[in-house]
Amino acid sequence: MTTLQFPSPKENLLPAQIPLVSPPSQSLDSTKVDRFKGSLMGMAVGDALGASVEFRPRQYLLDHPVSNMQSGGTWGLQAGEWTDDTSMALCLASSLISFRGFDPYNQLVRYKWWYKFGYLSSTGRCFDIGNATRSALDEFCRRQNETQRRWRTVNEEQMDSFTFDEMRRSGFDVNCGGQNANGNGALMRLAPVPLFYYRDPEKAVTLSGESARLTHGDQRAIDACRYYGALIVAAVHGESKEKLLSPNFYSEHRAWFGKNELHDEILNVASGSFSKKDGYDKGIRGSGKSVQALEAALWAFYKDDNSFEKGVLKAVNLGDDTDTTGAIYGQLAGAHYGFNRIPSKWTQQLYAKNLISCIAEWLQSLGDSRFATQSSPQQTPTRMSQSNQPQQYPNHNTSQNPLKIASNPTSYQPILTSSSTAARTSQYSTPNTKPGFPTNNSRSTAKNSQQHSSPWIWYRHEQ
Ligand SMILES: [Mg+2]
Repeated sequence: MTTLQFPSPKENLLPAQIPLVSPPSQSLDSTKVDRFKGSLMGMAVGDALGASVEFRPRQYLLDHPVSNMQSGGTWGLQAGEWTDDTSMALCLASSLISFRGFDPYNQLVRYKWWYKFGYLSSTGRCFDIGNATRSALDEFCRRQNETQRRWRTVNEEQMDSFTFDEMRRSGFDVNCGGQNANGNGALMRLAPVPLFYYRDPEKAVTLSGESARLTHGDQRAIDACRYYGALIVAAVHGESKEKLLSPNFYSEHRAWFGKNELHDEILNVASGSFSKKDGYDKGIRGSGKSVQALEAALWAFYKDDNSFEKGVLKAVNLGDDTDTTGAIYGQLAGAHYGFNRIPSKWTQQLYAKNLISCIAEWLQSLGDSRFATQSSPQQTPTRMSQSNQPQQYPNHNTSQNPLKIASNPTSYQPILTSSSTAARTSQYSTPNTKPGFPTNNSRSTAKNSQQHSSPWIWYRHEQ
């Protein structure tokens, strides 16, 4: 079967330039595809709607409410272009599709590609990244560097082509999130996991949590993803909105969550903390923290009068982390309402809409139980002691590896040591930016620097 091929970062392809291949029509279920597309396009629409006003406080949104896609603002994007939320979700989806399953090492490799080379970014550059995600990816690069030094003869490209199983055998720990990393940066990219594994809800919930743990180690961030993953699975299965928002959802689906109870703060949300008529005035916030972000997205779903358009604008117009609140809302509301109930004026304007739609089809087609049951939840690896560290790089079966990079080590090359040296230390070339698109470096680091010049009080980004 000819499958959708994702480029390597060396190819410098922008998302809209990736050649599209559709899955066989007989592998598609039209009702499910509508929900899968709804979830991914809903996420990207929410992200794009909020992008121009990201970090703007509530009062700004009261004075200048978002009602449509708009250019400019925080990142100077064109209307319909999206940010880190969608880029990271597409990285995650590309890994699930390429590996036909959950390979956490490869997920981190693709996040690193986005961070360093703008892989699957709407502009070809990583122009925004949350603090927790950046710390985790720096830590991942440090661990890759350390392993590469031990193995001596492996270069970065080869390091990136190994699988989780190969790295696990060498003791590589993929959980790079800080223990206190409690941002919404895992929730914002979550949807591909519950979509791919929706046929096996317990696995979907477990892996939703594991996908978060790679960059966010706080139990609240992990459990926010477990709970939201369960809601997305239930939505794909066609459960009613009343059931999704019921305070009994958790108890009625308790078997999906296995042995581990949800964190008390997530349980509080699950028991209905979001069902407040006067949202903002009663404490609902478009926050960068996982619990508040989860609550805000569910509040918008609760208050949307069965209209995606109304709900996503409610989420964005809360202010602060506007694009992410919109993206989280869109993942669930899009899965519930389906693609056809997202306003076409927005989906038509969305950057790389055909790629996102194609990815949704592949997730539905490949997320078959035959594939889904093949990759069981991975044991959490622990790092090896110095005495156990191997001196050889692992045997690398390129015939089974979707990255297909020949294992022919030549020379030592350092990987990433810090974000500021990422581009200079790379053996990959810097990706092209879009023709005519501003390439002001100060903008690319504004989220984590003092270089911005906005008169607004900038929100401290927690992702
Ligand atoms: Mg964003």
